[in-house]
Amino acid sequence: MRITAVETHVVHAGLRNWVFVKVVTDEPGLVGWGEATLEWKTRAVVGAVGDLSGLLIGRDALAIERLWQTMHRGQFFQGGAVTMSAISGIDQALWDIKARHLGVPCWQLLGGLVRDRVPMYDHLGGGDSSVVYGAADGKNFAEAALRSVAEGFTALKILAVPMGPALPGAAAVRRAAEVMGAVRDAVGPDVAIMVDLHGRTTAAGALMYGRALAEFDPWFFEEPCQPGNPEVLAEVARALPFPVATGERLISLQDFRDHLAAHACAVLQPDVCHVGGPTALRKIAAMAETWNVPLAPHNPLGPIATVVNQHLGFGTPNFLVQEVMRADVPWRDEVVQGGLPIVDGHVHPPTAPGWGLDIDERAAAAHPYKAEPLLELEGSDGALLDW
Ligand SMILES: [Mg+2]
Repeated sequence: MRITAVETHVVHAGLRNWVFVKVVTDEPGLVGWGEATLEWKTRAVVGAVGDLSGLLIGRDALAIERLWQTMHRGQFFQGGAVTMSAISGIDQALWDIKARHLGVPCWQLLGGLVRDRVPMYDHLGGGDSSVVYGAADGKNFAEAALRSVAEGFTALKILAVPMGPALPGAAAVRRAAEVMGAVRDAVGPDVAIMVDLHGRTTAAGALMYGRALAEFDPWFFEEPCQPGNPEVLAEVARALPFPVATGERLISLQDFRDHLAAHACAVLQPDVCHVGGPTALRKIAAMAETWNVPLAPHNPLGPIATVVNQHLGFGTPNFLVQEVMRADVPWRDEVVQGGLPIVDGHVHPPTAPGWGLDIDERAAAAHPYKAEPLLELEGSDGALLDW
C-alpha cells in the first residue's frame, strides 16, 4: 500500500487553528488523519508538512517507524517544534491507516488494553474566556470547577497564577491563593486540582506561590519555570511539598531524557502533536517508565489530538491522566465525529477501526485559517512578561 497524497486542512477554532493532516493511500477509500496543531506557527507547520510530503509519496504507508526515521533522522537539520509538529500529524495519520487496514482500533496497536478506562481531567484555563490571561477571580474559577465536577470530573486544572515580574509581589501571591482557596472550598478535599504556572515564574517566584498555595493541597504545579533548565526545575521540585509536572514545550527525546535524568519532575506531560506523534510518545513513555515517572499528556488542542491521546492512554502502562480542554468552539463535534464521550470523568475503549474518527471536510472548510491574535504582554513597567 503506497502513499499517494499528504494534505493539510486548517480549521480556525477560536484561540487556535487546528491543523489536520490527511494521508491518502492507493487503497481505495483508505486514508488516515492526524493533528499537527502548533499555535502561532500554523502556516509554518502547513509548509513543513508540504516539505515532508516529498519524502512520503510512493512509500509504503505501513512502514511507520521507517518513515519516522526518514522524516527525522534522515534530515540534516533535525527537530524543532515546527518540524516535529508536522511529523506528529503525519505519524498519527499513519497509525490511523495501519489500524484501519487491519480493522482494529489504534489502541490495539499501541500496546492493547492496560486499563479498562482512561481518566480525564478538565483544563479550566483562566476560569473564563480569558484562557490565556487568567483574569478571572476566585468566583469565576469556583463556578467553572463546580460545572466540571457536576459533569463527573474528579480532577481539574486552573491557571491561578497571574503574569508578573521575576518575583511576584504580595498582591499577586494573595490573588493566586484566593483563586486556589475558592476552588478548593467549592469542590471539597478530594478533587485533584492542578495548577498551571505556564512558565510565568522564576524558580524563586514558583516557590513563593508554592508556599502560599500548599495549604490548599495542589495535586501538582505545572511548568513552574520556563522550559530549558532541568537542573533549575529539579531544585524547585525538591523544595516544593507537592509534585512538579512539565513537558508540553519539550520536543526531542533528548529533552525528555535530560529532564528525567535530572529528576526535574514527578509527572511528564509530552504533547503527541509536538514530540513526533505516537511513535515518539511511546519512546518517551518507555524512558519515563525506567524512572517510575507517569505521563499526563498535554492536550489543549483539537478533537483528533484528544482521541489520539486517549488511545495512547489505553495502552501505556505509566499513563496517569489525560488532559482535555473543551472550552473552544461549540461546533467541535460537527467537524470531527466519533470523539469518545466522557462519563464520570473517564472514556471507555472504542471499537471502531483506527482512531475511529470521521472528519467532515465541508464543515471544516467553513472555518478557514485566521491568524491567531498576537500576544505581547507587558508588566506595569512596560517590560515583556512570560505568558
Ligand atoms: Mg500548561
